[in-house]
Amino acid sequence: MNSSISNSRPFSHLTRAENLDRLGTESFDLLVIGGGITGAAIARDAALRGIPTALVEKTDWAAGTSSRSARLIHGGLRYLEYYQFGLVFEALSERAVLRRIASRLVRPLPFMYPLYRGQEPGFIKLTAGMWLYDFLAQFRNVSRHRMMLARETARREPIVAREGLRGAARYYDAVVDDARLTLATTQSAHLAGAVVANHARVVGLLSHGGQVIGAVVRDEITGREIEIHARVIVNACGPWVDALRSMDVGAKHASPLLRPTKGVHLFVRRERLTSQHAIAFDSPRDDRHLYVIPWGDFAIIGTTDTDYAQSPDTPNVTPEDVDYLLEAAQHAFPSAHLTEADVISAYAGLRALIGSDAASTYSISREHHIEQSESGLFTIAGGKLTTHRLMAKEMVDTVAKKLGGAGKCVTGKRHIETAERVAGIPMPARSASVAHLVEAYGADAVRPLAYAEERPELGQPIAPGLPYIRAEAHYAVEHEMALSLADVLIRRTHVIYETFDAGLPQARDVAALIAEKLGWDAAEQERQVVEYERQVSLTRSFRKS
Ligand SMILES: Cc1cc2nc3c(=O)[nH]c(=O)nc-3n(C[C@H](O)[C@H](O)[C@H](O)COP(=O)(O)OP(=O)(O)OC[C@H]3O[C@@H](n4cnc5c(N)ncnc54)[C@H](O)[C@@H]3O)c2cc1C
Repeated sequence: MNSSISNSRPFSHLTRAENLDRLGTESFDLLVIGGGITGAAIARDAALRGIPTALVEKTDWAAGTSSRSARLIHGGLRYLEYYQFGLVFEALSERAVLRRIASRLVRPLPFMYPLYRGQEPGFIKLTAGMWLYDFLAQFRNVSRHRMMLARETARREPIVAREGLRGAARYYDAVVDDARLTLATTQSAHLAGAVVANHARVVGLLSHGGQVIGAVVRDEITGREIEIHARVIVNACGPWVDALRSMDVGAKHASPLLRPTKGVHLFVRRERLTSQHAIAFDSPRDDRHLYVIPWGDFAIIGTTDTDYAQSPDTPNVTPEDVDYLLEAAQHAFPSAHLTEADVISAYAGLRALIGSDAASTYSISREHHIEQSESGLFTIAGGKLTTHRLMAKEMVDTVAKKLGGAGKCVTGKRHIETAERVAGIPMPARSASVAHLVEAYGADAVRPLAYAEERPELGQPIAPGLPYIRAEAHYAVEHEMALSLADVLIRRTHVIYETFDAGLPQARDVAALIAEKLGWDAAEQERQVVEYERQVSLTRSFRKS
């Protein structure tokens, strides 16, 4: 087992600078545009097959939808209602694969599905559905489902509404830190040989004889433009795929591929919504299934599903989104008396769903789609976090054919080289911070701890009450390619979501820490704080006052 990613191949701001130079001088078989989970997984798969691969991301790894999901690695129980057994089987098989290859990040979580009188599905149908869910998982889950009656349900989860309660199904799915899974997948792609750069935006495509042959990338830090040449180009831009397609000579008149929908999640303190399980519940307004998901000291409530036609850069959270979720949570957990004052933060993500005339956004297929334009540009869109590895395999199989052959896909067998093991590493007495460091970095937790040992002020929390320590700002720059204040406070740590003030009072302190590594002057530090404030406003835009 690789105990340290950074030992074997650095993944820092300096690595990125070297990579940008390489992007302009080497030529690649494959250029992947978009550093969400889809692009990262394609780059990893291709690099592991020996394909010379480049990956560029306009903002930061996982800055799009891949850091704004419900964080579930799941079969999708609700798809059984639509008889989409193939989709559920595929997702359950992937859940098993991801638990194997990313075992520190993808963790099993017990779920509860309470049932009420007069509700669909009824007790018998739900029991049958649960057996089917276990069967489609080939009975290889943490344990089989269990049905329980009302009294046991209420005893195990006192927060669920009692009126009309008939019982519940208890079963397992899994959760993951989506931003960290994407980062780990990108690091793994890099270890396998892919040349990767974040804050590198594609601003144009290069073509010759009607065929796309490369892209112009702008380094968002310096403004320098670089031409990248590649034999095959894949557009994995999630909600931005249509914007990228509009740069393609071969798809100039093509109609948009996507019908994006917005999904909002709320963060509340766990003590306001205590539960041992993730709990499924229905919205009384439209019967959509929602979840409350325990996440450390927090509970995440989600999600909405509404058409979205504005810029993918700034999906915001409206008071209506929050009202919808709070109304449903209040209905399902009446004793919690949740109000808007309990909502610490909220985030909105965009589903890159394939265009459809369906009246309800909820019923649009979540399956993915691959197309090739007349000029040869591949676009991949749709799908799920859970099935990203399979999507990547299918995409790289197609690329390999176009390239005239390549090795076999090995991603199902190769562990994502997150620093796994902590056994044998001397750790100070356990505290919330140490527990968090081990969970986030595995064996690499010793690095931020070593920084803190050298300079004890780096061992102080970034923000009061949160487990993140100031040393993580240095670690993020030196080992995780963080280049902005937002990279550190949103995706390397999740400070933005976990305090009411989003860590704004500490933003200047964190900017100064990053400045030590990146050489920012005072003006740049101030610019970073202003940009972070802008991002924060999107996660608090629901506040009426
Ligand atoms: C609300 C919500 C909840 C969800 N919950 C779950 C769940 O619980 N489980 C699950 O399995 N799935 C879930 N999903 C689906 C899952 O999150 C997505 O399928 C997945 O994250 C999509 O990843 P992606 O890489 O395709 O897109 P993205 O993550 O959006 O990545 C696209 C990237 O392309 C970059 N980009 C765009 N334009 C350019 C350019 N010009 N140059 C360079 N880069 C560019 C963007 O910055 C972005 O980072 C959820 C989705 C939503 C919206």
